[in-house]
Amino acid sequence: MVHVNDGYLNLRAGYLFPEVARRTEAFLRAHRGADLIRLGIGDVTRPLVPSAVAALKEAADEMARAETFRGYGPERGYDFLIEKILAHDFAPRGVSLEPDEVFVSDGAKCDTANIQEIFSPDATVAVVDPVYPVYVDTTVMARRAGPPDAAGRYAGLTYIPATEENNFAPAPPEGLDADLVYLCSPNNPTGAVFDGKTLAAWVAWARERGAVLLFDAAYEAFIRDETLPHSIYEIDGAKECAIEFRSFSKTAGFTGLRLAYCVVPKALTGEGPDGGRVPLHALWNRRVGTKFNGASYPVQKAGAAVYSEAGRREVAANIAYYMENARVIREGLAEAGYRVFGGENAPYVWLRAPGGDSWAFFDRLLETCEVVGTPGAGFGPSGEGYFRLSAFGDAERTKEAVARIRTRLPA
Ligand SMILES: *Cc1c(COP(=O)(O)O)cnc(C)c1O
Repeated sequence: MVHVNDGYLNLRAGYLFPEVARRTEAFLRAHRGADLIRLGIGDVTRPLVPSAVAALKEAADEMARAETFRGYGPERGYDFLIEKILAHDFAPRGVSLEPDEVFVSDGAKCDTANIQEIFSPDATVAVVDPVYPVYVDTTVMARRAGPPDAAGRYAGLTYIPATEENNFAPAPPEGLDADLVYLCSPNNPTGAVFDGKTLAAWVAWARERGAVLLFDAAYEAFIRDETLPHSIYEIDGAKECAIEFRSFSKTAGFTGLRLAYCVVPKALTGEGPDGGRVPLHALWNRRVGTKFNGASYPVQKAGAAVYSEAGRREVAANIAYYMENARVIREGLAEAGYRVFGGENAPYVWLRAPGGDSWAFFDRLLETCEVVGTPGAGFGPSGEGYFRLSAFGDAERTKEAVARIRTRLPA
């Protein structure tokens, strides 16, 4: 009988979002006609910008004619898109990359998970805690972690606590022992962003140790503070120790279209069995060429359109819309007496849950305000005591939610 991958059996049951849904539905059954406001969502709500829609339609028409039809494209992505990525996402920040260091894909979620495949099975992993649950679960699936303890901490996986003391953006802790470190900046769920000094400490640590940083910048477009890095390659030496992940999902509202990319610099190496240096670029290139057939042509055309002058203006307006929601949540809750974090360079506001139990606060917020948020404990052990509110909702409804919290549930 075939044996299953026991990494999957080691996973804790999907808990956070199913449990949020279960409690919300139970509340709605008990309170018919409740006027619920959902500030728990990690998805965008604004429609696609006109430039992207026009490019999609144009590409669909091209696909309809024999002369302009396109079948399989380059696995790594079309040059017309990669050129725009280099010119707009990196060159203005002083980062120069070669076009073939960029790998276009259909999602940063799968990229951050799949990247583990090019490392030895015994590579050890560290995550900043709390964080996007994908990094932890995919580490467990890859059999790089042992069973979880009562608090949900998997054995063999290193959790680096993100706390108020370190502004939720920890530097490498003393004696950190890991081969791969996931860093998410701006962070989901805390909204914290690594500053240049802390990132430089990570790069120095990784180079010294021969570790690789897996830098998820899915929310970089939300950074407002001019002094904060958008790319890890803004730090000297990062090309020798970091892989960066980007996504059009939150930046341009492509969660339903699917487009992302990752950067694997040619200068980045790992150790081979004989102790020699092996370029990770060659391995990832091989992986992509073998297991992936590219993101779809119309979607890549839509992605390129996002970089046009009109596209950039339209996308910036959507981001400004969400960031105004973030401001409304952050300032309104602070005025209501809450301790709030994030929301200034990220679409998430992170707050201290009064009472310290994040699920208890979830229930109280739902019952007194009819507002749904996300308990911090669901993002990792260090998230207990905190709560995430998302700025991806409708502006009027967000204001209404904040008004309810201020009047019915001040801290
Ligand atoms: C939403 C999100 C992504 C985006 O993933 P896609 O697969 O590109 O939609 C990546 N990382 C984090 C932390 C996210 O929250």
